[in-house]
Amino acid sequence: MTNKDLAELLLPGVSSDIEYYEKKYPERNLKEGAVVTRFAPSPTGFVHMGSLFASFIEKKAANDSDGVFYLRIEDTDQKREVENGITGIINDLKNFDITIDEGMTSENTEIGNYGPYIQSQRKEIYQTYVKHLIEEGLAYPCFCSPEEIEETRQIQEKRKQRIGYYGRYAKCRRLTMEEIKEKVENGEPYIIRFKSPGSFDNKIKVNDLVKGEIEFPENDLDIVILKSDGLPTYHFAHAIDDHLMHTTHVIRGDEWISSLPIHVQLFKSLNFKAPKYAHLSPIMKEEDGKKRKLSKRKDPEAAVSFYHEKGIPVPAVKLYLMTIANTNFEQWYDCNKDKTIDDFKFDFKKVSNSGALFDVDKLYNISKNYISYLKATEVYDNALEWAKIYDKDFANILEQHKEYAIKLFNIEREQKKPRKDYSCYSMIKSQIWYMFDELYIDVKDYEFQTITDEEEISKILNLYVTKYYDENDDKDTWFNKMKELASELGYAKEVKDYKNNPEAYKGHVGDISMVLRVALTSKSMTPDLYELMLLLGKDRIFSRYNKFIKGN
Ligand code: GLU
Repeated sequence: MTNKDLAELLLPGVSSDIEYYEKKYPERNLKEGAVVTRFAPSPTGFVHMGSLFASFIEKKAANDSDGVFYLRIEDTDQKREVENGITGIINDLKNFDITIDEGMTSENTEIGNYGPYIQSQRKEIYQTYVKHLIEEGLAYPCFCSPEEIEETRQIQEKRKQRIGYYGRYAKCRRLTMEEIKEKVENGEPYIIRFKSPGSFDNKIKVNDLVKGEIEFPENDLDIVILKSDGLPTYHFAHAIDDHLMHTTHVIRGDEWISSLPIHVQLFKSLNFKAPKYAHLSPIMKEEDGKKRKLSKRKDPEAAVSFYHEKGIPVPAVKLYLMTIANTNFEQWYDCNKDKTIDDFKFDFKKVSNSGALFDVDKLYNISKNYISYLKATEVYDNALEWAKIYDKDFANILEQHKEYAIKLFNIEREQKKPRKDYSCYSMIKSQIWYMFDELYIDVKDYEFQTITDEEEISKILNLYVTKYYDENDDKDTWFNKMKELASELGYAKEVKDYKNNPEAYKGHVGDISMVLRVALTSKSMTPDLYELMLLLGKDRIFSRYNKFIKGN
């Protein structure tokens, strides 16, 4: 029996014409240096921060070079599958504006000429290459049962030897054609293994774009390439797919780094040009001064839904991802504030080797800065969009008071150094509730500062409402009146006067305006008080102040 006969015996009816696929999926017609990357998740229904980070880099590397970024669904391990698992992934990517050039666009649709982009529909392709390998004498059937494999594992453990199907433990490698034939004819189930040409004593070097040059012992494991369900293992599918889809750069989590010797060997044995590899370290988090992996279980920010729920603008999340993706980005952005991420060139050499540190506070800061440069109408639209999903009552309020809300968002905005009030849309309500009757409540904890004496507060507010308030005042007049009021009660009109001669005054005009601010809003930090008063209007101002005026 020849290898060809063996191949037909093991995979009857399957074609071994690999040329067909080589022609069907020709070289991509891209410019020199164009990078082709893929995001290749299992259809688990969601993307977590680590894989969002990887897909962000994959997309960026492709974009920078006018290349291609595609989505391939890796569903060969059908145990990991969930219903509508592809839709969830597509939505997560969409939410972060990570659009694909090719690949799956829903549970059962796709775009692009290199598909199918879902592995379970590529069965024929994999089997063709497996059959070809058998014909070449590079693959063979294995009849070992799971129990036998487990037994071998235990023996290896006891002998303190490497675990796996190799050398003397690769029992089925030594079966004769006749033995194989007999077993097949007896109906014994089998899988197909790759016949590794490697020796563990040899060393190979692989150049990883992030980790640098890594030395490994050569692979000598006869890994499974085709499982009993007719589907390939990850390793084999990786080689076939990334070859036929012409991936130039495989960017993935570094849990795969130990499999590199297998992958390099597979590409070589199949006569494929190996892609470049970039293995990303897991995203880290600092806790109690120690670094640990960002954890799906412990850290809410590990789920990408977190950003949507909090209302952190997508461009801000992307700025943050770029910051942790390339260590030189932050400085570049500081010097190029008018530019965008698209103007920055991603560099594999600038990816942190020890794992990017994820710092939510920093993300919030970036977000706060980003929101501060938006137009008031944009803040309004985005806040409303967020509220419609997560806080319907607040959405109604924003809709009912559209002009008012926009004016409020516009205070100290659209200027060189805009006010940085909001780090995300979910916190807006807690910052501005006192501006809306529907949300206003008489809190107990007013943040009065230097002046806390009730009599004095009463006196200041009384004088303000009876003598100094005039709704028609412009800002200068309003402020001058504040100074008059200060002076009348023994406070300095100017802070510097007070500082020069503190004994002569009870305080200064700033102390007075603080009383007016806190009594109106309960808060010591608010946007410009004059503007707030203008928006709130006389009735609200008086009714809030009257509560503090003794004898009322
Ligand atoms: N399906 C693999 C995973 O989800 C993809 C790894 C790769 O990008 O090659 O881990």
